Amino acid sequence: MTDTATNQTPVVLITGASSGIGEATAQRFSSSGARVFNLDRQPPANASGSAQWRECDVTDPAMVRSVVEGIAAEEGGIDTAIANAGISTRHAFLEMKPEDIRRLLEINLFGVINLWQSAGRIMFEAGSGTLLATASTNGSAGYPWYSDYNASKAGVLALCRSVALELAPRVRTACVSPGYVLTPMQRSEYTDDMLAEVNERIPMRRHADPTEIADAFFFLASDNARFITGQQLVVDGGELAGGTASS
Ligand code: NAD
Repeated sequence: MTDTATNQTPVVLITGASSGIGEATAQRFSSSGARVFNLDRQPPANASGSAQWRECDVTDPAMVRSVVEGIAAEEGGIDTAIANAGISTRHAFLEMKPEDIRRLLEINLFGVINLWQSAGRIMFEAGSGTLLATASTNGSAGYPWYSDYNASKAGVLALCRSVALELAPRVRTACVSPGYVLTPMQRSEYTDDMLAEVNERIPMRRHADPTEIADAFFFLASDNARFITGQQLVVDGGELAGGTASS
């Protein structure tokens, strides 16, 4: 992978790349030769990970800015920034505590804003770059017990459309919206029986592997996606086509 604008090794930032989808995405970009930085509050679960870990809490705008500007100064710029860090909690809407909702929005929505602002300023000034994020099919369809999560992902999709209009033609934005993906997040919330029941509802009859989400990010960051901005790429095994969503 070579950045077309500069003809140099691309620099890719990914939040939440110590686990799951982010980890697989970091691996995908690293294997193509990119220089990849993992901005996560925790060190990588897999010590052999190919990205350079920088401790970063995406809810802290000053910390995100300092880490992003530090990498840009060291590397001479940023080509792609992927806001992927996120959490989800299964809870009934009528029982949700305001502090829990606020915490989720801080990570899932403000976390995207914080990365996109810091990296977006650098890209806009440089004249090129791509801002990506992990949304969810839940941003487009209702799903019970995750209403705060779903609202956060709908917010990410709205952000993606509006930021695309402000930053074009210099900077592109896009989201990948996964359906069910077999990651630590998913395993922590679903029993084996629940996973099997979910698989029955997915037209492709299985969860996605994290590498399949990573492939979508790799496409959106590439020159092959040069005329795509403000859009989501749904990777859900056909679920949303039937009008349902995952978590
Ligand atoms: P995961 O729990 O495996 O990984 C999430 C990572 O985010 C972890 O490494 C964690 O340390 C990091 N993180 C959490 N809060 C952070 C913070 N404040 N600052 C920095 N890092 C933080 O989860 P995953 O399943 O890989 O999810 C990744 C993204 O994909 C999330 O945005 C999630 O909402 C989205 N998603 C997941 C699924 C799924 O089925 N797993 C489906 C749709 C969307």
